[in-house]
Amino acid sequence: SGGAKLISGTEVANEIRVSLKQQIDDIKAKLPNFTPGLRILQVGGREDSNVYIRMKIKAATEIGITAEHIKLPRTVTEIELLEKITELNLDPNVHGIIVQMPLDSETTIDSHKVTDAVCPDKDVDGLHTVNEGRVAIGDLNGFLPCTPWGCIELIKRSGVQISGAKAVVVGRSKIVGTPVSQLLKWENATVTVCHSKTKNLEEICRTAEILVVAIGVPEMVKGSWIKPGAVVVDCGINIKPDSTRQSGTRLVGDVLFDEAKQVASFVTPVPCGVGPMTVAMLMKNTVRSALTAAEKLVQT
Ligand code: NDP
Repeated sequence: SGGAKLISGTEVANEIRVSLKQQIDDIKAKLPNFTPGLRILQVGGREDSNVYIRMKIKAATEIGITAEHIKLPRTVTEIELLEKITELNLDPNVHGIIVQMPLDSETTIDSHKVTDAVCPDKDVDGLHTVNEGRVAIGDLNGFLPCTPWGCIELIKRSGVQISGAKAVVVGRSKIVGTPVSQLLKWENATVTVCHSKTKNLEEICRTAEILVVAIGVPEMVKGSWIKPGAVVVDCGINIKPDSTRQSGTRLVGDVLFDEAKQVASFVTPVPCGVGPMTVAMLMKNTVRSALTAAEKLVQT
C-alpha cells in the first residue's frame, strides 16, 4: 500500500489564514478606521483567471482584507493600464496590487513593463524585478513570490531538513521554477535545475531528496523517477479528461500521483497542495504590507 504521507496544502493554508485573521483583528482594534486593501487588476476575462481571482478575493475577504476585482476591457492600452497601476500605487488604502497574468488583451502590452510598474512595496505577488533581484542574491526581506514560498513552507512541514539536502527542481519559469530553486539554495540545499533541454532528466530526478516539479505537463514525472523516501512537491495544475466525473474533467499535477505516493515519503496532492498555499502566501504578503503601513499610522 502507498507509503507516502500527504502534505495537505489546504490544512496548512487554513492555519496560516487563522493567524493572519488574528493579526488583522488586532490592528483593527488599535486602528478602527484601518483596513488592509488588495486590488486585483484583470485585463479581459479568461475563465481560468476568473477562477483564480475569485479564490483570492474569497480568501482575502474571509480574513478581513478589503479586496476588489478591477476589470479592464480587452481593448485597454498599455498606457491606460499603467495609469491605473499608478493610481493604485498612490492610493493609501491599497497595500497590495496584483495584475492577473496572462493579460487577455487586443492591444500589445509588455507584461514585464506592467509587473515592474507596480510599486515594489505593494508587489504582493513578489514578481517585480526588484523583489526578484532580492531573492536572487539571498535577501529574503522583500516580498517572496507566492507559489515558490508556498512550496518551501510545505517542504518544511514535511519535517525534512532542507539544509544540506540534494534538491532537484524541474522547470525554470519566472514565477515558479527559477525562484523556488533560489529559495532552496538559500535554505542551504544543493540544487540542480532541470528544463526542456536537460539530458537524463529521469536519472537526475532520482538523485533528489527533495523534488519540486513545475513543468506544466500532466503526470509527466513517474514513480520510477523518484528516489525512495524523497519529498515530492508538485506545482502542476493541469486539466485532464475524466469520464467518471460529472464535469468530464479533473485536475492533475505534473507528477503521476498514484505512483509517486508508493515511492516518496511525502507528496503534495493536486488539488489541495501547492495551489491553496499560493493563495495563503499572497495573503501573508498583503497582511505584512498592510501592517507596515499601519505601523506608520500608529507612529504619526
Ligand atoms: P512554464 O510553462 O512557464 O514553464 C515550464 C518549465 O518547464 C520551463 O522551464 C520548461 O523548460 C520546463 N519544461 C517543459 N516541458 C518540459 C519537459 N518535457 N521536460 C523538462 N522540462 C520541461 O510553466 P510555469 O512554471 O508557469 O507552471 C508550471 C506548472 O505549475 C503548470 O502546471 C502551472 O499550471 C502550474 N502553476 C501552479 C501555480 C499554483 O498556484 N499552484 C502557479 C503557477 C503555475 P524551458 O525553460 O526549457 O522551456
